Amino acid sequence: MNLLNLLGRKSFPHGIHPDEYKDETKAKVTRRLPFAPEIIVPLAQSIGQPAKAIVFKGQRVKRGEVIAEADGFMSVPIHAPVTGIIKAIDIVPTAKGSKDPAIIIATSLSSGQRVFDTGERNDYLQMAQEDLVKAVQNTGMVGLGGAAFPTHVKMAVPAGRHIHTVLVNGCECEPFLTTDHRVMLEKIDALLLGIKIAMRCVAAPKAIIGIENNKLDVLDAILPHLPDDGSISIEAVETKYPQGAEKMLAYSLLGIEIPSGGLPSEVGLAVFNVATLAELGYLLPIKQGLIERIITITGDGVHKPGNYITPIGTPIRFLLEFAGFIGDEAELILGGPMMGMPVHSLDVPITKGTGALLILDKRATKNDDILPCIKCAQCLQACPINLNPSELGLLAAKRQYDVMEEQFHLNDCFECGCCSYVCPANIPLVQYFRIAKALNRERHLQAQ
Ligand code: SF4
Ligand code: SF4
Repeated sequence: MNLLNLLGRKSFPHGIHPDEYKDETKAKVTRRLPFAPEIIVPLAQSIGQPAKAIVFKGQRVKRGEVIAEADGFMSVPIHAPVTGIIKAIDIVPTAKGSKDPAIIIATSLSSGQRVFDTGERNDYLQMAQEDLVKAVQNTGMVGLGGAAFPTHVKMAVPAGRHIHTVLVNGCECEPFLTTDHRVMLEKIDALLLGIKIAMRCVAAPKAIIGIENNKLDVLDAILPHLPDDGSISIEAVETKYPQGAEKMLAYSLLGIEIPSGGLPSEVGLAVFNVATLAELGYLLPIKQGLIERIITITGDGVHKPGNYITPIGTPIRFLLEFAGFIGDEAELILGGPMMGMPVHSLDVPITKGTGALLILDKRATKNDDILPCIKCAQCLQACPINLNPSELGLLAAKRQYDVMEEQFHLNDCFECGCCSYVCPANIPLVQYFRIAKALNRERHLQAQ
């Protein structure tokens, strides 16, 4: 293996170097959070179609049991994160800011161990590709890196496409977040098994685990476990945001550009997050579903920052009580500070795509005064996909959303937030772009 590849010289143009803020949690062994007395499980937990509830009020459910079925191929089932009684199926506030249907479970005191193991097994080495994709769907797995894209959909490679490499994304480039780092240290066997399952699903002969060079302890930990045939390798890339975006990682590791508006499979790649594959490697062989995930709880005033194995559906209020927080001027963010979502209700539950709960002191966050653009071009220098955020921002202020889309490639923006981060005028560019995209989507729907 090339030593330079291990040290992380490879990179992509532009991007930013924000402070990391990972020291508080990266060296702490993952701990298990207790069960909250009430668990709120939204039916929409992927970017696909919401699941369909198959339980009723008053029904007793066991941890691991299916409580909502997939509604078609672009959907995943949902499993009970705790043993308990269905208290209601109701509309609840969610991290997206909307109110959505959810199954609410009153947790039983003896909620059980990690999974309700039926003893059934998937013989994944013998399964046909189609059956394997179905088995992945049955786990309810979505991208745990935040995208919440149904994993089985990525694994069903369109006819006529050939995947030459599975990219396993362990960059975790957002400040504060360290869940993937811990997964790569603590779940190596499950991760390697998940990678083999993904390679089998997409018929790829090789896989590369990509990490940022701020995690070289992961190299030491994983290298001795890699298969002798060289089919799975690990390489470090430069620590730079947003190195963990699939376009950036593909370019940094392999020099391959994923085309504008295109999918990785168009250039022979399938990209998965490390936590997704580690969880899949654990759950698929034992025919179980996703009921918990690791999240980073950290920030100003948190007494017990760390990484916690958390049942899906645990309300933020419970996380705050457990991790211990003192302060009255807190801004809560689900996810990282760059791409996460601020939350305004403590009743919002964590979902499959939630990687972190950040508690930031409002007094320490950026000044909110928005000034006029001074044409400094720092946003152009930061944008990793060469958009013109300055011009897009001016068009957004004039509400020319159609021009943003048709002439300035708004839909290529993947909302990394680099432009907002560097803007000396505090212009909330990425927020403008999110709104513009949402309004354009609505306009197109109405036109249909
Ligand atoms: S948020 Fe969009 S426009 Fe801004 S830097 Fe990221 S990709 Fe470029
Ligand atoms: S960084 Fe801000 S001030 Fe500078 S050109 Fe971009 S939008 Fe204008």
